[in-house]
Amino acid sequence: MKRIGVLTSGGDAQGMNAAVRAVVRMALNQNMAVYAIYEGYQGMVNGGDQIRPFTWTDVGGILQQGGTVIGTARCAEFRERSGRLKAARNLLLNGIDSLVIIGGDGSLTGANYLYEEWPGLLEELVATGQIAPDVAAKHAHLQIAGIIGSIDNDMYGSDVTTGSDTALHRIVEATDAISSTAASHQRIFVVEVMGRRCGYLALMGAMAGGADWVFIPENPPDIDDWEEKMCKVLHLGREAGRRDIIVVVAEGAQDRYGQPITSERVKHVLEDRLGEETRITVLGHVQRGGAPSAFDRNLSTLLGAAAVEHLLAATEPEKPFVIGIRGNKITRTPLDEALAKTQAVAQASQEQHYAEAMRLRGNSFNESFQIVRTMVRVLPHPPTPGQRRLRLAVLNAGGPAPGMNTAVRTAVRLATDKGHIMLGVQNGFRGLLKGDIREMDWMSVSGWASRGGAELGTNRLVPEGSDFYAIARSLEEHKIDGLIMIGGWSGYESVLQMMAQRATFPANNIPMVCVPASINNNLPGAELSIGADTALNNIVQAVDKIKQSAVASRRVFVVEVMGHNCGYLALMSALATGAERVYTNEEGITTQNLLEDVHELSEGFSKGKRLGLVIRSENANPIYTTSFISALYEEEGGDLFDVREAILGHLQQGGDPSPFDRILATRLASHAVNHLEGLIEAGETTCACLGQVGGALVFTDMQDVPRMFDMDKKRPKKQWWMDLQPIAKILAKPAPH
Ligand code: ADP
Repeated sequence: MKRIGVLTSGGDAQGMNAAVRAVVRMALNQNMAVYAIYEGYQGMVNGGDQIRPFTWTDVGGILQQGGTVIGTARCAEFRERSGRLKAARNLLLNGIDSLVIIGGDGSLTGANYLYEEWPGLLEELVATGQIAPDVAAKHAHLQIAGIIGSIDNDMYGSDVTTGSDTALHRIVEATDAISSTAASHQRIFVVEVMGRRCGYLALMGAMAGGADWVFIPENPPDIDDWEEKMCKVLHLGREAGRRDIIVVVAEGAQDRYGQPITSERVKHVLEDRLGEETRITVLGHVQRGGAPSAFDRNLSTLLGAAAVEHLLAATEPEKPFVIGIRGNKITRTPLDEALAKTQAVAQASQEQHYAEAMRLRGNSFNESFQIVRTMVRVLPHPPTPGQRRLRLAVLNAGGPAPGMNTAVRTAVRLATDKGHIMLGVQNGFRGLLKGDIREMDWMSVSGWASRGGAELGTNRLVPEGSDFYAIARSLEEHKIDGLIMIGGWSGYESVLQMMAQRATFPANNIPMVCVPASINNNLPGAELSIGADTALNNIVQAVDKIKQSAVASRRVFVVEVMGHNCGYLALMSALATGAERVYTNEEGITTQNLLEDVHELSEGFSKGKRLGLVIRSENANPIYTTSFISALYEEEGGDLFDVREAILGHLQQGGDPSPFDRILATRLASHAVNHLEGLIEAGETTCACLGQVGGALVFTDMQDVPRMFDMDKKRPKKQWWMDLQPIAKILAKPAPH
């Protein structure tokens, strides 16, 4: 039987527990023995009861906890070969030769040393009589899978790392809160965020929080007198009516000579030159704290599961790999390559080769930097003399999705900065046919980055009959050159209808772009739509509370979530909350399923289980409703447990957008504006829908939508997340062995 060890090391990061849980349960499911190594490398060096076999229940109830329940530490001894020798001995005493190491680049550097020295360490242990030769021969090769646990997102090998999404939640909660007090007093706030070598948190925090200035280590201000420039812009901003001013500083920010730009330095500059009261907020360890976000729980769960699969699949000795993610796909990168590339960025920015540092950070980081740079402007660049000023309309359609405002704000600002005229259509296609359209300027979207709901108004109207005449008139009257629809399926349908009416109404011959925004995440050409992450977090927070309400009783909760016919929210919230069963429309429900499930629950409760959680997507089955299932469970469960149903309802659509949704909205809107501009300039009238596919932003011709989309069920024919169903099932039910 293969024995695998799992440890968390270095700085703690939210989501580490989810990764440990997935590693333990996947390993047990695969018939492997799994050992938790407590306190990172310290436990490996100490051995004894710091290396303990784990069972299924040892990782129960930890998914929603911040930090790491198996502890983490910085271990000086492990930096020396002598420490690693002790570590190797302790691993062998427990028969462990496969490791999942969850930590930052320091921890993974240490892992690489252990791997490289392993044969030599074994030789020495045998020579000194500490390990029997046959034990050494049996474990001649050490296998390692690394998972990057780092809130800074500072490592090559994964688009995002475990903990960074939650850290952004903490940052955005803080900047949202600070902006209201800053606005009341007209103060300037300098917010310092973590990131000694990496500006990811600062940049994304500034983007998501709608900050007014940002400093990051990799890309210092490109002029000597950055103080003057910043003060001028912030001063003009004040004059233009900005009440709250927030400057975000990464803790490792520097000027182009490598001198630190600290939050203190920024504060003094602002006070001296602007004479404005300036306060500093250092977010510090708050960023590491609190419950992990839905995204971090699921990311870590998938990485943990993939790490075990990787270790199991290796048929011959392999070098260590980092298990990461690109888009929604699991990736494997040789650890030495990941470390070398990570080191290269740090070195480039340390040696003041900033262009190189930025190049190494990759496209989406650079693109985000450019967007933030434009968004912090006081006013847009004036149109270039003689340029064609396009008239672009933007509207929302479908149900409200948190992040719609963020997307509109970005579209308005970026298009105006390019010299174009942005027209905001009120109340979706209803407003378009009524001509309820007004010009939106730079300041009209102030504060929209963080605001939930849909300021423009949205509804599910799909035009028909004479509506098309009215729409064509509006397009003509307002001389609209292109349209950006940010919304759900009814918006896509409306655009398809407008395309179909082109022969009758030539005014419809304009390019249109659909930007996916729906909490249901059921849109064509997009793996994730704006709003789904916020809804998922709303569900997960609600379910955490529901679970807590039942600590002492034997109870099963049947929780109903939204999604229409799409089970995305149901499955992903089940993964993130550890639900034992999830019912979706895609899978359907049969009476046999229900009886099997209730018997399984009864068996669990008869063995001491205290809490059960079942998630049902709202349209999972028209007959087997949430109430029906609850009643059936209640009846069949007898005295073993009681049942409560919870229909979460509209709280799922509400609240301010999550950082993930704000970032997605900003990037999508930016691409939509550029694409539309390109089409109009090329005289093309194609209509496209935009979405993130496999880690890239992709435009799909609207003509292809009917082929990709199940018009009946109103969801894509192929849904990537369906592949996660087996993992959800494995993690929810104890291994049979
Ligand atoms: P992180 O993993 O979050 O980057 P650290 O850099 O503090 O955190 O590393 C955590 C632990 O990993 C260290 O305390 C040490 O035990 C081990 N480690 C870090 N760097 C090395 C190294 N160069 N060689 C061996 N072990 C190391």
